[in-house]
Amino acid sequence: MSLANKYRPTTFDTTVGQEHITDILKSKIKNSQQNNHNYLFFWPRWTWKTSVARILSKAMNCLDLQDGNPCNKCANCIAINEWKTLDYVEIDAASHTWVDNIREEILAKTDYPPTQLKKKIYVIDEVHMLSKGAFNALLKTIEEPKDYMSFILATTEIEKVPETIVSRCQVFNFKKIPAEKMVARLQEICKQENLWYEDEALDLIERMAEWCARDAVKYIDQVSVFGDISVKNVTNLLGIVGDNTIKEFLEIIKSWDRANIFTRVDEINSQWIDLAQFAKQVIMYIDHHLMEDVEFFLKISEFFGEILSMIRYYPYPNMVYKIVLNKCVSGDDRECPPLLKGGIGGAEGDLKKSSVSPDKSGSPAPLDKGAQPEKSIWKKQDSSSQAPQNDTVETKKVEQQSEINDELFSKIWDQIDSKTLQHGLKNFVHVKSVTDWKIELIVIDKMAEITLKKEENQKLLEQKILENTGKSYSLDIFYMDKDEYFSQMML
Ligand SMILES: [Zn+2]
Repeated sequence: MSLANKYRPTTFDTTVGQEHITDILKSKIKNSQQNNHNYLFFWPRWTWKTSVARILSKAMNCLDLQDGNPCNKCANCIAINEWKTLDYVEIDAASHTWVDNIREEILAKTDYPPTQLKKKIYVIDEVHMLSKGAFNALLKTIEEPKDYMSFILATTEIEKVPETIVSRCQVFNFKKIPAEKMVARLQEICKQENLWYEDEALDLIERMAEWCARDAVKYIDQVSVFGDISVKNVTNLLGIVGDNTIKEFLEIIKSWDRANIFTRVDEINSQWIDLAQFAKQVIMYIDHHLMEDVEFFLKISEFFGEILSMIRYYPYPNMVYKIVLNKCVSGDDRECPPLLKGGIGGAEGDLKKSSVSPDKSGSPAPLDKGAQPEKSIWKKQDSSSQAPQNDTVETKKVEQQSEINDELFSKIWDQIDSKTLQHGLKNFVHVKSVTDWKIELIVIDKMAEITLKKEENQKLLEQKILENTGKSYSLDIFYMDKDEYFSQMML
């Protein structure tokens, strides 16, 4: 049996970190207060939701309650634990089969009382995935509650559950499991399993699991197959790194030395470290150490946020790192230290000799608004032959409009009400150049191009640019293959 299953909580008292819920449920059971027949468990990520649902189901049916906890030994507890009764049904609404069949298979059968248990219980996980028809049928069922029946609904997206359903349930919001409680639980498990562990390794696992107890135990299981729960094993086997590696990487970034940064990115990539996970780890590290170097960390965390959002769309994760970090080193971002303001192809050599280097304390030098870096990532090619193939527009002299850049556009996407439109365009549209009140945009995704070229969307975008800059621009939109875009960007 996997450790995750072995240590899945089976009573309210062994459910770590959700006492605000389990204490209430336990006292309701003890006092036989089950007036409310329907429950809705909410938590944005998987935690013990379904485990608690099962514990509650057993407690409602247990023949030998132990201070409000199910005994896990009586016929009813065993029937639920071993799936040997038709009176207890767990459904994952995310599975398509159930979305289609829930009405016929489940809701039509609620007229019959339980055959074995005291109460017939339906646990519907990810309930927000149900179809409209299924929701209506569910609503009808819970509107006319029957004493012998209970629904326990669980969801990670409560806003998608119709209010009519939510209002008929007692809602429990699960909390993130506090780090120290999770680590203490992991220590207990290691001791029970006779596993040697390093505290730092458990900390690492706790952070990687992002409050998901099941994942944390799963990681212990995976690492234990190869030996001790040591930092070395955890980092090697889970493709993650220790704090020292992250600290060292951030120091390299802080040197603003492009070559060094790129070399380190390639080294990390060659070590089979999951670079998406690594970006998450960097952000978590920054979160933990923020006050040590607040300005630098806040700025850098934005870049890592960008890396995370891009990395899903691009097949070469190390390139994503280079592209994004290059922007910073090149002074493509207005918040970068003045040291870096030479721009791509600018006086990099001079910069190294510059007397305005970041001081040893590490905070970036204050922003010099008067010395804005040049903005266009394309300025090199404006004077060369690297224009996109389908760009037939005569290249005009670039009049630098410093406020028009990718950063402005990422702000604009956030201002658009339509999520579909937002997601359809974010990360796919880049500023090529700004010329005579005209903005040339590169779109690196075919669907995004179609979306953006729709007249109403283009008008909306022009309107947003006006709102944000106070100036009217017309838009020229070009498609470019994303591989080509990224490789040009690196030039
Ligand atoms: Zn029992």
